Amino acid sequence: MANKDYYAILGVEKNASEEELKKAYRKLAKKYHPDANPDNKKEAEAKFKEVNEAYEILSNPEKRKMYDRFGTADPSQGFGGNGGPFGGGNGYYSYSSTGGFDGFDGFGDLGDIFSSFFSGGFGGRNTRENNGPKQGADLRANLDITFEESFLGTEKQITLTRNETCQTCHGEGAKPGTKKQTCSMCHGTGQIKQTQTTIFGQMQTVRPCTNCNGTGEIIPEPCIECRGKGIVRKQVKVSVKIPAGIDENQTIVLRGEGEPGIKGGAKGDLYITIHVKRHSIFTRKGQDVLCEVPITFTQATLGADLEIPMVDGTEEKYRIPDGTQPGTKFTIRGRGFKNINNGSQGNFVFTVLVQVPKRLTKEQRDLMVELAKTMNEQPPVKKRGLFG
Ligand SMILES: [Zn+2]
Ligand SMILES: [Zn+2]
Repeated sequence: MANKDYYAILGVEKNASEEELKKAYRKLAKKYHPDANPDNKKEAEAKFKEVNEAYEILSNPEKRKMYDRFGTADPSQGFGGNGGPFGGGNGYYSYSSTGGFDGFDGFGDLGDIFSSFFSGGFGGRNTRENNGPKQGADLRANLDITFEESFLGTEKQITLTRNETCQTCHGEGAKPGTKKQTCSMCHGTGQIKQTQTTIFGQMQTVRPCTNCNGTGEIIPEPCIECRGKGIVRKQVKVSVKIPAGIDENQTIVLRGEGEPGIKGGAKGDLYITIHVKRHSIFTRKGQDVLCEVPITFTQATLGADLEIPMVDGTEEKYRIPDGTQPGTKFTIRGRGFKNINNGSQGNFVFTVLVQVPKRLTKEQRDLMVELAKTMNEQPPVKKRGLFG
């Protein structure tokens, strides 16, 4: 699927301000509102949804940033090449999971457009309240990966149990060959309205219809597979592309891998939080790989060619100079973690640990004694003293 050009859909420049976006969106939302296009509803509806989608992404600064960066705000399109959205740290990138439009801000008088569109039914037929399409619930999962996997990127399968649309009845809930019926008690609205005359005047109460449990429909012959629910619990395997450079606690969002929507609503999303296992020799700091490399005191004194193990399993030759002090840090550029956002590469930084031999052979000891005689006792003590 090609990535959509949300800017083109809204007919604005890439650097459009929030105000310009809103203006463009309002204009188009009105133009394509299905009620305003009785002659070509289907087309208008599709356009309307597209415009909404574009505005939903671009009006959210975080999502817009992600879209600008990756050309998509949809990680299910894979990270191959263009990366995908990641929450930094513990954060998920904000998304309204309830299927409503709670995530939308600053709509002002647009509210009416939305309520009429999403409460089900265009053109004034049978307006139901809170009975229209609902987005499916989001799911969360954790995934452990190794240090090397976080460095190189990988693809993993996770197994989870979630609700799936029943394949027997295609989510209808009715036994194949039979049909749902509009609830006769609430006439499909899912609600029972009662008007009572009280001393305060006319009072109207609304309660969910008990005959259909507020769904507006009854199923005379339920599907055997799902017992009329239209959904079944299923264990599924979902594959996750994990980009090179992902860090502890970052979250990958797989759009549409959550639970199925209700009444044609979109599927929920799957949030996968990554946990990176500790490594025996490497640690991570930002984009850098840190490592301690033991060397002998003769290597420190005379200088040496070292073979430093890299995270990807290769080795890097590195020459340390003579007179290298314990704790000196050396940097091998470009061998650290990849930045998942811009592809830049961190460094590999190793600290030398100078090891003092605990045991010497007779020959080594004699040589050391000879060496010591030439070294003029102890090194100079700083003026402020050892504990200054
Ligand atoms: Zn079924
Ligand atoms: Zn009913």
